[in-house]
Amino acid sequence: MCGVGTGPDDLQLTTVPTTSPQATIDQIIAFFRDQAGRELSAVGIGAFGPVDLHPESPTFGFITSTPKVGWQQYDLASTLYRALQVPIGFDTDVNAAAAGEARWGAGRGLPNFLYLTVGTGIGGGALVNGEVIHGLLHPEMGHIRIPHDLAADPFPGSCPYHKDCLEGLASGPAMQARWGKRAQELPADHPAWALEAHYLALGLATWVCTVSPERILLGGGVMQQASLFPMIRQELLRLLNGYIDAKPLLNEIDSYVAPPELGNRAGVLGAMVLAEHIYRNPSARIGAPLAGEDAWR
Ligand code: ZN
Repeated sequence: MCGVGTGPDDLQLTTVPTTSPQATIDQIIAFFRDQAGRELSAVGIGAFGPVDLHPESPTFGFITSTPKVGWQQYDLASTLYRALQVPIGFDTDVNAAAAGEARWGAGRGLPNFLYLTVGTGIGGGALVNGEVIHGLLHPEMGHIRIPHDLAADPFPGSCPYHKDCLEGLASGPAMQARWGKRAQELPADHPAWALEAHYLALGLATWVCTVSPERILLGGGVMQQASLFPMIRQELLRLLNGYIDAKPLLNEIDSYVAPPELGNRAGVLGAMVLAEHIYRNPSARIGAPLAGEDAWR
């Protein structure tokens, strides 16, 4: 998803399918070059990952060990820099979405919250003290290990790295592999949803206890099943069992575990926040060109 503008009100969007890197990036570049009469100041990228976010690394701005065919070790950020010649801000898709929700959505005014997407994969971005977490690599919240009762759920899990990590048990493809139907086709009263709520609540309980978010936003294709929200809230409270004595959790659970306000625009609006950040903070210009050089850092 590509967008141009200064915020939600003047955002112009287009979507291109993710196919081969060459075909996909050619369409993205064409979209940005095509903005007749509007001058780009900077570009922000929220990329599927894993990605390299370390400015001193030779593969900074690359997509690294993704299972997506053709995209392993792909030099995404500098390819766009060479084509567009503007500063590039770069982060994961979920960190970007968290930044978008922080600025214009359900994370406004909250220095600590989580954004989680549950769809073809599971990924999370965490804002802590007003900044998205990077650290060693970047959070890979979908790949935490959770209790898996094989007697209740014999499905072995679908993650190519871990089998039954959270993503391997609860992503859209895991649901499809377990039940033989796409998540969208499973009716609201199907037992799939109680199991899904249980697994997601196990993840949420872990992050409540480790990251202490003030709110948790759940987006992505699987979360379009609206009946999942109350089930997750109830299961989260059951798992925590009264131990976390905090008003937003105990008294305001409907807004504590909530959908993102920006919907599927959270990521692209967050990328705009990344672009603005790189534009306004020249000293922090990860991705700014050095004077006179055709290098993006
Ligand atoms: Zn995994």
